[in-house]
Amino acid sequence: MAKEINTIGVLTSGGDAPGMNAAIRAVVRKALSSGKTVKGIQKGFMGLLNEEIIDMERKDVSEIIQRGGTILRTARCEEFRTEEGQQKGADICRKHGIDGLVVIGGDGSYRGAQALAAHGINTIGIPGTIDLDIACTDYTIGFDTAVNTAMQAIDKIRDTSSSHERCSIVEVMGRNAGYIALWCGVANGAEDILIPEKYEFREQEIINNIINNRKKGKTHHLIINAEGIGHSTSMARRIEAATGIETRATILGYMQRGGSPTCKDRFYASMMGAKAVDLLCEGKSNRVVGYKHASWVDFDIDEALAMQKVIPEYEFETCRVLR
Ligand code: ATP
Repeated sequence: MAKEINTIGVLTSGGDAPGMNAAIRAVVRKALSSGKTVKGIQKGFMGLLNEEIIDMERKDVSEIIQRGGTILRTARCEEFRTEEGQQKGADICRKHGIDGLVVIGGDGSYRGAQALAAHGINTIGIPGTIDLDIACTDYTIGFDTAVNTAMQAIDKIRDTSSSHERCSIVEVMGRNAGYIALWCGVANGAEDILIPEKYEFREQEIINNIINNRKKGKTHHLIINAEGIGHSTSMARRIEAATGIETRATILGYMQRGGSPTCKDRFYASMMGAKAVDLLCEGKSNRVVGYKHASWVDFDIDEALAMQKVIPEYEFETCRVLR
């Protein structure tokens, strides 16, 4: 028989993402409306091990849906990667009466949720990462806001670059995943995108393109470079030396993580928070919520972690054709 859950805990883990607050709010309010008690765990798995655990009522999540970041704060925790840390985490959950836990974070955080499930705490993961790099879902919390923030910043850089007839390299977030770069590449009309999944060292090709485009009368050349490739400043210096065209690098950095979430991030995060509570109420554990083919779905965490996400070839090729 499915285990009945009385107290639901919620935490955010890994990198923060705009929309996490909407997910926390949905978990709290949906759980309370289902007759459950709710506890917020601050600073991810580190806060769990330090017992930074607070009671959460309806009013505690008022006025947060429009705020970026996470009111529960977030952290990375090495100790939780160990068997002792995971056992201690499960014991602390039991001590505080937490029998169901919603973990909002990336795939590293799912591994923490998986470990707690193995120690008898029912867990559900929600994809919270600006990188869109979780294979079991077409949507992750924060990507929409982050990519719109980056797009707007790149539009501004492009205005000034065109006026000065410069070449610009804009570095966007994405250490292992090029989705922000790919989407901005299309949305900002970039001449080149450099992403970790597809990177081949082809700087000479870029240099030739810049020279040819300038001959054809193009007033600017925009290169979007993902963080995982990096080295934008030295790349700019080399391109300027080879082309004779003034080239500037801009690293957008942490601004892409912050700011008020878009409507999409608020809406989707709210649905995912509610769905996670539904799954716990149904006695489910070791599962992750996703959005696939226009439906709210859930997968076993083991199965979700085994899936591979690949950059869609059609999107990558189209980006190159449209430049
Ligand atoms: P992001 O996509 O923003 O990096 P993430 O959730 O993937 O988010 P990680 O730093 O990989 O970020 O993981 C967050 C936390 O989850 C870690 O600090 C650690 O506490 C826990 N965690 C990660 N991997 C494991 C693991 N194999 N076993 C147990 N816990 C883990």
